[in-house]
Amino acid sequence: MEKDMQYGSDYKFIPATSIASGMGMQVLPDLYCHTIQIVNFVVVGEPGTSDFVIVDAGMPGSAEEIIAACEERFGANSRPKAILLTHGHFDHVGAIVELVEHWDVPVYAHELEMPFLTGQQSYPDPDPTVEGGMVAKMSPMFPNEPIQLGDHVEKLPADGTVPHLSDFRWIHTPGHAPGHISFFREKDRALIVGDAFVTVKQESLYKVITQEQEISGPPRYLTTDWQAAKKSVETLAALKPSVAITGHGFPMTGSLLEESLGRLVRDFDQIAIPDYGRYVDKNIH
Ligand SMILES: [Zn+2]
Ligand SMILES: [Zn+2]
Repeated sequence: MEKDMQYGSDYKFIPATSIASGMGMQVLPDLYCHTIQIVNFVVVGEPGTSDFVIVDAGMPGSAEEIIAACEERFGANSRPKAILLTHGHFDHVGAIVELVEHWDVPVYAHELEMPFLTGQQSYPDPDPTVEGGMVAKMSPMFPNEPIQLGDHVEKLPADGTVPHLSDFRWIHTPGHAPGHISFFREKDRALIVGDAFVTVKQESLYKVITQEQEISGPPRYLTTDWQAAKKSVETLAALKPSVAITGHGFPMTGSLLEESLGRLVRDFDQIAIPDYGRYVDKNIH
């Protein structure tokens, strides 16, 4: 039975922006990253074909911008084969209901994210007390009620393959969210990270606005399992990615990426884990 799709009851437009908002960047010939206010979505596919998918679905109210960015790249009335979700936080599913209605395409996510995408479970409350900046303090206004995608969302295959993206595999990178995943392509070592790590200090309003590039752990106010988050960064660093497109901040490549990821692994406790906050247990690390 098909259920109606709807957003959570606390769904709303969030007035936040950055200098990158509205900008698109072609990272590789078939990898395009576009910023909606403060979050990125990724388009994977070669322009000139009709074969593409999008990863994540922007901020609340951004469906028209996402559709326009895809049509600019793939032609009028083009539509992706699927929408893949790194996780279900509000800033990654903000336009998904309108997008699924407009395109009529399937959504794929990790099994452990399904309760948050099918109206069953809310994410834990964001933590405004966490060590960090103004965005952390704003975080109680962020929606955390589950959206309802009904039968439109499907579990990713357990074997790591990605529907409609034959050369990528998904990698479970929990910590920031239980079913958080990243996507990796072996042949050119391209990595779509989601929020497992980001290249902007997402708690700081100033750094979010200026998008100053700086490797950082997952956004603090929504990360609830720091031990898992640390392991996930180690997993991703071990892949030795040549390019990383993160959910927040500009894409990072080459030696800067290698050095930054190395440092994040080495100094994760100092760089990523907040000194204080609701989800920090000082006895664990
Ligand atoms: Zn997130
Ligand atoms: Zn995010």
